[in-house]
Amino acid sequence: MEKYLSQLNDAQLEPTIQIDGPMIVIAGAGSGKTRVLTYRIAYMMSKGIDPFNILSLTFTNKAAKEMKERIATIVGASEAKNLWMGTFHSVFAKILRIESERLGYPSNFTIYDTQDSDRLIASIIKEMNLDKDIYKYKQVRSRISSYKNSLITVRAYFQNPELIEADTMARRPRLGDIYKEYVDRCFKAGAMDFDDLLLKTNELLTRFPEVLAKYQNRFKYILVDEYQDTNHSQYLIVRALSDKFQNICVVGDDAQSIYAFRGANINNILNFQKDYDDVKVFRLEQNYRSTKNIVNAANSIIDKNQTKLDKIVWTANDEGGKIKVHRSLTDADEGRYVASTIFDNKMNHQLQNSDFAILYRTNAQSRSIEDALRKRDIPYRIYGGLSFYQRKEIKDVLSYLRLVVNPADEEALKRVINFPPRGIGQTTVDRLIVAANGYNSTIFEVMKNIDRADVKVNSGTKNKLQDFVTLIESFQVLNQTADVFELAEHVTRTSGLIREFNKDGTPEGVTRMENIEELLNGMKDFVEGQKEIADATGSLAEFLEDVALATDLDNDKGDPDRVALMTIHLAKGLEFPYVYIVGLEEDLFPSAMSMNTRSELEEERRLFYVALTRAEKQAYLTYALSRYRWGKLVDSDPSRFIEEIDEQYLEVLTPVEERRFNPMLDADIFGDPEPNKIRFKPAKQVSIKKGAPKKEPTKFQVTTPKNLKPVSKSNGNTNLFDSKLAVGNMVKHLRFGTGEVLKIEGTGADMKAEIKFDSGGVKKLLLRFAKLEVV
Ligand code: ATP
Ligand code: MG
Repeated sequence: MEKYLSQLNDAQLEPTIQIDGPMIVIAGAGSGKTRVLTYRIAYMMSKGIDPFNILSLTFTNKAAKEMKERIATIVGASEAKNLWMGTFHSVFAKILRIESERLGYPSNFTIYDTQDSDRLIASIIKEMNLDKDIYKYKQVRSRISSYKNSLITVRAYFQNPELIEADTMARRPRLGDIYKEYVDRCFKAGAMDFDDLLLKTNELLTRFPEVLAKYQNRFKYILVDEYQDTNHSQYLIVRALSDKFQNICVVGDDAQSIYAFRGANINNILNFQKDYDDVKVFRLEQNYRSTKNIVNAANSIIDKNQTKLDKIVWTANDEGGKIKVHRSLTDADEGRYVASTIFDNKMNHQLQNSDFAILYRTNAQSRSIEDALRKRDIPYRIYGGLSFYQRKEIKDVLSYLRLVVNPADEEALKRVINFPPRGIGQTTVDRLIVAANGYNSTIFEVMKNIDRADVKVNSGTKNKLQDFVTLIESFQVLNQTADVFELAEHVTRTSGLIREFNKDGTPEGVTRMENIEELLNGMKDFVEGQKEIADATGSLAEFLEDVALATDLDNDKGDPDRVALMTIHLAKGLEFPYVYIVGLEEDLFPSAMSMNTRSELEEERRLFYVALTRAEKQAYLTYALSRYRWGKLVDSDPSRFIEEIDEQYLEVLTPVEERRFNPMLDADIFGDPEPNKIRFKPAKQVSIKKGAPKKEPTKFQVTTPKNLKPVSKSNGNTNLFDSKLAVGNMVKHLRFGTGEVLKIEGTGADMKAEIKFDSGGVKKLLLRFAKLEVV
């Protein structure tokens, strides 16, 4: 048997070598589902299956890339090249590009990201003179999105009185009209939004049997990771493509279904056995990721959900530390606690920044954490939020490029027609939009024919419009010979963007320039990288597609050694040695918006399960008694999820932030030297609330925990704080071994030494706490 297969346990091996027929692996977190998929693909290829016939769908492009790399190490890079792997969106965008003309779309169609969709919807609401407080564009967008993901087209909408009734009841009787206008405008602009990539694929596969047959024959083997989070539209695509050969392998965990709010349907996993004949079902039970404490704690919490498949998850890993629960007074204190324990853990266990992840329920929570990390000089990276490609200056450059590929692209055009300013006012743009709608044409076409078109603009403006058309056309000419990088460089200069951002010399301007530079670097990489990928064209259109579909997890630029900050939703499938789950407060997590029904609350609980099971070695749960939300300080109660965990797996820490009453205040910066000495404990741990601690600090009792031994000052290590230490001294550290002092800085309590340890690496230690000996 192949050597790599020995890296699987027996339960994993079975589904790995089971190639034909429908099958499902249902198993808990960390049990090797993704590993099975990866090895299974390698195994299939080693059995002679053409990679060209294998399609695998992953949750992020990054996950696909990692799987591909792993497979390449087993079967060889040139073989792995031909695998079709990626997210639903990126895979089907590629297929649509090949087939789009059947649907009336140009093959160079633009992909509108969420921001583009929002802007278009907002402008339609304005054009229709609707009240923007009732027709909130984000709500309208999410409504349209859910229609599309349920395959409710505009026509189907208007044929369904219940839907019309529901929107009317929600005081939005014109929703259908907005939906229709939005769809028409996207179509005319040659643009598909994210949901269209799935909706149009479904349309393609149902309307054109020959296309369906072509892709059924091509993708003889289909694999899907995270199957529990597929929505209806995705489900139908998989179902249709696998219908002929039925070689379909899905893996998932119903306990990790967390995207119902976006239309994911947990029933897809629950009903899989009904959808196909003779489904083989596999279960994995051994978790390889986490300690016993983490696995058991996670089991105890998911147990509280009623809707679930019964599963066993156990681990042979170490017991590990108990899960640490920490209470803070405010969100700022919480941030400080997280930063200071990361700092300590790094020092004490020789860890990298990238060994830590901080997970939260909502993006807004990152701010207080970021502040604290910055104060400690801990490098971090935020995933999610505004992605690199959505920053203003980047979108500006990309909009010019989008127009080069597809001049019909309305959102791109509106964005840059007067940026940098070239004297084309909003009134003119509005008139162009009206004219384009009137002629059933595009804004760009109207501009091109402005001499003949019935648009009220003076001759000066006419010239400006014509100049803009000429500019874009000149880029189009260059695009026929130049590569993406060369073109973009030319565009940024000739369009005046560089001049515009350089103009003011403000720090923001400088940052913008740096970002544009980073974009250009990325293009250079793209041009180089394309040489290694089979059937890549390296075209501008391809670059723009990659960019439009890049999730923030995918573009991992810069120093990789950084603490990861992200929402729990984004963390699905990932793992980190140390995980902090912050903001564990009622109304925040579980979210106030998800507590109306049992099923919503169960989804929140699954989300918590996902968060906890990301941790390999140590998990921290933190909450604050008050926090700034929507600009106001709000009191909060600890999350029910903390109480729901079987307490034998928890270590409830007494609050460290009350150190503010402690004269040893400066200890805060480098960790408390005697964390066990004085402890403040609330009279009743979990019921302190409504800002009481602030107004009535006397509510806290000073206690010395009985089970903790007092820490003696002399613990066998020399504290060099007041001894003499000089550059060039050889010293010994309990954990880091021997090393040489390179530098000494600061005085008194702040004295630090930079030491080069023989074990490798230079560390800066605070002498007051460093356990050092001169040797
Ligand atoms: P999730 O539900 O979170 O997506 P998963 O079931 O996909 O988890 P994997 O990510 O495949 O689990 O595996 C979890 C970790 O355990 C990974 O680091 C993986 O490399 C490791 N692992 C899985 N199986 C084995 C094994 N047989 N031997 C050693 N390590 C393993
Ligand atoms: Mg996985």
